[in-house]
Amino acid sequence: KKLGKDQFAVFEPAMRESFQKHLQMEADLRRAVLRHEFELRFQPIVRLRTEEISGLEALVRWQHPERGMIPPMEFIPLAEETGMIVPIGEWVLREACRQAARWNAQRADGQKPLTVSVNLSAVQLERADLPQLVSSALAESGLPARCLVIELTESLLVDHRPETLDRLREIKALGVRLAIDDFGTGYSSLAYLRNFPVDIIKIDKSFVDDIGDLPAAAALTLGIIQLGQALQLSTVAEGIEHIGQLSELTDGNCELGQGYYFAEPLTAEAMDDLLFPS
Ligand code: C2E
Ligand code: MG
Ligand code: MG
Ligand code: MG
Repeated sequence: KKLGKDQFAVFEPAMRESFQKHLQMEADLRRAVLRHEFELRFQPIVRLRTEEISGLEALVRWQHPERGMIPPMEFIPLAEETGMIVPIGEWVLREACRQAARWNAQRADGQKPLTVSVNLSAVQLERADLPQLVSSALAESGLPARCLVIELTESLLVDHRPETLDRLREIKALGVRLAIDDFGTGYSSLAYLRNFPVDIIKIDKSFVDDIGDLPAAAALTLGIIQLGQALQLSTVAEGIEHIGQLSELTDGNCELGQGYYFAEPLTAEAMDDLLFPS
């Protein structure tokens, strides 16, 4: 008000434009849900000592008819805000279980079954029917519960409601394992390890990035791995891009890892070729 009436004219068009963009994106997203415009990519999670593939992380993409492939960071926040993450996340979970079961059925006898990791958003955890959804995704795909990992971020655990913990316990009771994603980036990571029934720690890429350059990053990474061992949790290092990072992590006894050094997130077809070379 103090700036006077004219000031509004200056930024109003910009505001209107961004508001319209937001509305357009929301309408597009609604249509995307109805028309199934989503796809999954699968990134291998590798046993660092042997470099064998132990599992896959399912990562969603939006194939927009005009704008092409939209990465999750550009639509997940809007999907969460509008509640559309619920149908999207349900599709992701069912599709990830279906693909993993299909790959496991094709694997040779004696090979350990692959795990599949699915990212969950806080909005999905607010739903009382989440445990039923997980159990129905397992039942309809035939994927054993021990092959499914649910990834939760620390921010999800920060402002959790009391029911969240019950829901996570119900999911764990099915035999599904829980991972803390982006570990080390939240404000009280250690508290989550005490309060939540987690099985796996995923060390955030930012630690792995600096492992060869910053002694502090290396010390923190090794500390997280040791913490995991002391608590009998698996540790997965995220975002491994160079062999130097791999050797530091292997020397530090990190069990698993993923990153462009091994493979980028792949289409289901490319994953077929990787798993079953002809
Ligand atoms: P995230 O769960 O931490 O997934 C790891 C992200 O790091 C992925 O990005 C992956 O492509 C990327 N990445 C893996 N290795 C490397 C590497 O070596 N270098 C670099 N620079 N990046 C690497 P993406 O696929 O864009 O996903 C971003 C985030 O979006 C995910 O982070 C996750 O939080 C969220 N997300 C993805 N799919 C879903 C989903 O189905 N549901 C929900 N709720 N969130 C999802
Ligand atoms: Mg993840
Ligand atoms: Mg992560
Ligand atoms: Mg992340």
